[in-house]
Amino acid sequence: MDWIDLRSDTVTRPTSAMRAAMLDAQVGDDVYGDDPTVNALQARLADELGFAAGLFLPSGTQSNLVALMAHCARGDEYIVGMDAHTYKYEGGGAAVLGSIQPQPIPQADDGTLPLDAVERAIKPDDPHFARTRLLCLEDTWHGRPLPLDYLAAARALCDRHGLALHLDGARLYNAAVAGKVPARDITRHFDSVSVCLSKGLGAPVGSVLVGSGALVEVARRWRKVVGGGMRQAGILAAAGLHALDHHVARLADDHARAARLADALRGVAGVTAVAQHTNMVFVEVARERLPALRAGMESRRVRLSIGDAPQLRLVLHLDVDDAGAQRVVDGFRAWAAG
Ligand SMILES: *Cc1c(COP(=O)(O)O)cnc(C)c1O
Repeated sequence: MDWIDLRSDTVTRPTSAMRAAMLDAQVGDDVYGDDPTVNALQARLADELGFAAGLFLPSGTQSNLVALMAHCARGDEYIVGMDAHTYKYEGGGAAVLGSIQPQPIPQADDGTLPLDAVERAIKPDDPHFARTRLLCLEDTWHGRPLPLDYLAAARALCDRHGLALHLDGARLYNAAVAGKVPARDITRHFDSVSVCLSKGLGAPVGSVLVGSGALVEVARRWRKVVGGGMRQAGILAAAGLHALDHHVARLADDHARAARLADALRGVAGVTAVAQHTNMVFVEVARERLPALRAGMESRRVRLSIGDAPQLRLVLHLDVDDAGAQRVVDGFRAWAAG
C-alpha cells in the first residue's frame, strides 16, 4: 500500500505523462539562454501573468531571494509579514546574502498585512534608517487567498510611497482557482511574482519569477551568483509546462476534497478547531493524544506532520485521491474510538 502523505503539497511525484514530457524535452544550455523549453516556460508564465519577462529557478526560496535582491540594494529594507515565508522560512537569506533589512510586521488572521501598520513601518529618508523599498505579500496564506480589494489597496499604498510590491505566489494558482479568477487578476497588482511549480502543480522542481525585463535581468545576474544557473534545465522546465497545461484546473479537486475531509473530521470526537482553506485542512487534537494519533496513522501508512503542537495541518494534493482521503478519515475515527 502506498503512503498517503499530507505533510505538504511538495511531496507530489511526477506522473507518467509528466515524466514522458520531461523525457522528450528539447534542451540547450540555459546559462547561455539557449534552452528552448526553459525559454518557453518563462515566456508562457510571463505572458499569462501579464509581465514582460520570466526566470526559471530551482526553488521558490531562490526565486524570492533573487527578487528581493533585484528590488533592493545593500541598506534597503522590505516590509514583510512576521510569519511570511520570505521572512521566516528562508534562512534569513535577504539579510544574509543581500544585506537587505527585513521589517517584519504581524499578519492579520487572513494573511493580510494591515495597511496602517505597513504605512507606519515606512521610514523617512534619513541616514538613521534603512531605505524602505519594497512590500512583500504571500498568496495563498496558510491556504487563504488574499482578498482582491486588499491587493488593490496595497498597490495604491505602494504607489503613494514609491515602494515596489512583490508577491510570494508559491500557491498563486490555488488562489486563482479558488477565487474563480484568472491568475492575472491577482498578479496585475504586483511588480514581481514568484510562482512554485513544485507544490500543488506537481512538478518535481522549480519556480518562475516574473517581472519587468529590467528587473528580471538583474534577477538573472543574482541567480547565477547564488548558484542557480542550470544548464540543460529544459528537462525540468518541461515538467513545469506540463503542470501548467494539466494540473491547474484540477486544483479545484484538491480544494473540494479538502472541504470533504474537513467536514468528515468535524464529526470525529477529540478533533477540534477544524478549518479549511483551499487545499489545506487545520485541526487541533489534545497534546497527550498526539503519540497515539501518530502511531495509528503510521500503521495505516498515513504521514502527517505531527510535532508537539496541538495544531495539525493536512495538505491535499495530486497524489491523494478520494480513497486516500477516506483512509485518513478512517485513521482519525479509529484513533477517536481507541
Ligand atoms: C514552498 C514555499 C516557498 C518556496 O519553497 P521552496 O521549497 O524553496 O521551493 C515560498 N513561499 C511559500 C509560501 C511556500 O509555501
